[in-house]
Amino acid sequence: MINFDTIIIRFGELSTKGKNKKNFIDKLFHNIKSNVSDQLLSISKTHDHIYIGVNDDTDKLKLIEELKNISGIYSFSLTKKVKCDKDVIIDESYKILNEEEKLSTFKIKTHRIDKTFPIHSDDMNRLVATKILKNTHYKVDVHHPDYLLCIEIRADFAYIFVETILGLGGYPAQSMGGAMMLISGGIDSPVAASLLLKRGVYLEYLHFASPPYTNAAVIDKVKDLLNIVTTTQHKVILHIVPFTKLQEEIYKHVDESYAITIMRRMMMRIACQMTRKRHLLAIATGESIGQVASQTLESMMVISKVCDENIIRPLATYDKNEVIKIAKDIGTYDISIRPYEDCCTIFTPRQPKTKPHLDKVIEFESKFNFQALVDECVEKVETIKIK
Ligand code: ATP
Ligand code: MG
Repeated sequence: MINFDTIIIRFGELSTKGKNKKNFIDKLFHNIKSNVSDQLLSISKTHDHIYIGVNDDTDKLKLIEELKNISGIYSFSLTKKVKCDKDVIIDESYKILNEEEKLSTFKIKTHRIDKTFPIHSDDMNRLVATKILKNTHYKVDVHHPDYLLCIEIRADFAYIFVETILGLGGYPAQSMGGAMMLISGGIDSPVAASLLLKRGVYLEYLHFASPPYTNAAVIDKVKDLLNIVTTTQHKVILHIVPFTKLQEEIYKHVDESYAITIMRRMMMRIACQMTRKRHLLAIATGESIGQVASQTLESMMVISKVCDENIIRPLATYDKNEVIKIAKDIGTYDISIRPYEDCCTIFTPRQPKTKPHLDKVIEFESKFNFQALVDECVEKVETIKIK
């Protein structure tokens, strides 16, 4: 076993953030400290990397899995940290490759970040390769090596590693301000939430419940979904809107084919008020262009008109298959497919409008005092802490 002692964490996109960069790095540093299990020997940060100290007792596989789930990490490597000394680097590189049983070809790639180090990268590559060629039966293959051994020479130490693991990318959790995520018990909205969380957006959740048409099991389902999706957000808030009365009024006064459009407009009105009340910066949904009648561009336009908040639809361009794949990857799929009734599906009309007309919509809405009902929904919202 190679006794790696340091994990180097790279930021990728964060590096382009100018003045904000320090805040991002501080956030990421904090997120790593509070999200990985308590086996870190040390953790430190510089302007372009975070370093984690590990030893033989560290469960490295577990740590790798944890790091893969932290947004804002572009990539990371398990490394051996050594003195910036030519002979030490050569010896340690040799030791690392010599540990590998299945290896037959290799390549050395030196990156001399500290230009005061007296030996140029190419020369260092040659020196290390020569030692390995002399003492083993391995051969150099510069195009398709079994092993690429990287040496990063920095001002303080040199770091030797053989693997770069891709992280989640995006931005550190809660570094981007907040949004109100409309969450159903379906497949799409938890996936949309996870894409936003990966971009560093803080999310509060809004769920429309229509008891007795929808039952309490839906709320449990939403809670289960949120527990999976929001692993890196410590405080998770779910607002439950009692939607039954408003929904029943819609169906009393509105032509069946327009009911879904108008119901969606009511949801948006409530979401808009809740977003302001909670001082959030956007509304988010799991809608995807063309998926159902209320998600054609015409419908979305008519629905968006009620609200001047920023509406984000992370899945707008995704096919259902792509969404299902992500849902399986992040572990929400099996929960999402548990049978349930959603407030959107219980009254589904036979022929919902795919191209609703705004003037018609306004005419239907003028038939009842919807604003009072919308306000009542907002007043009666039940807010619960999931964690
Ligand atoms: P799926 O399409 O997988 O059944 P979904 O959650 O996308 O699930 P849709 O009917 O497509 O369901 O709804 C579109 C979007 O509207 C959802 O992604 C979600 O953001 C929002 N939404 C639907 N129903 C509710 C609800 N009961 N509470 C809160 N938001 C909802
Ligand atoms: Mg959907």
